[in-house]
Amino acid sequence: MTRRVTVTFDNGPTAGVTSGVLDLLARRGIATTFFVIGRKLLDPDAAALAEAAHAAGHWIGNHTFTHSVAFGDDPDAAYAAREIEATQALIGPLAHPDRLFRPYGNSGKIGPHLLSRAAADLLARQRYTCVLWSSVPGDWRDPEGWVDRAVADVAARDWTVMVLHDIATGCLPRLAELIARLDDLGVTWTQEFPDDVVLLRAGRPVSLSATHLAEA
Ligand SMILES: [Zn+2]
Repeated sequence: MTRRVTVTFDNGPTAGVTSGVLDLLARRGIATTFFVIGRKLLDPDAAALAEAAHAAGHWIGNHTFTHSVAFGDDPDAAYAAREIEATQALIGPLAHPDRLFRPYGNSGKIGPHLLSRAAADLLARQRYTCVLWSSVPGDWRDPEGWVDRAVADVAARDWTVMVLHDIATGCLPRLAELIARLDDLGVTWTQEFPDDVVLLRAGRPVSLSATHLAEA
């Protein structure tokens, strides 16, 4: 069985880090998605890194403006609109046609904190594609153990959508090792997202359920 892997990089762009990630991906010819934080794009150097990623064939997704409070913990419609729309405006022409969005997850947990009803309604109305994940190996909190965990996660499923981070404490020091080990496993690298991690695709419900929604 050929296992598929979709790699995503969250919480950037980060000067001194994202360019290193892009170099490693280019060397191996792997296309990914960068879920960027809106307020980071206010820095022209970070915005240039998002442009470089886009120019290299990576997809740019929206990962909220402040990356601070999960929508389920602040169900206010104006909060959701600010977090999503301000970031999408900064992403501008770099946006993927499917308007990729990933909610702030609070250390990668999947649960009703991810979305408020207002956030889900806005994402549907404005035809976003809301993308979760199936592996969070923990590059930022466990520099020793995360590569082993990532490889084990990939070995355990047919198609893994992995969250890594292009931040100063993220995956870059061991990203080449991860790529080599997954190549040894014979994985197929893909940029696409399987339905099981897609809550909405261009606004249409796919895997969205009550488990992702805080009760208002
Ligand atoms: Zn994040």
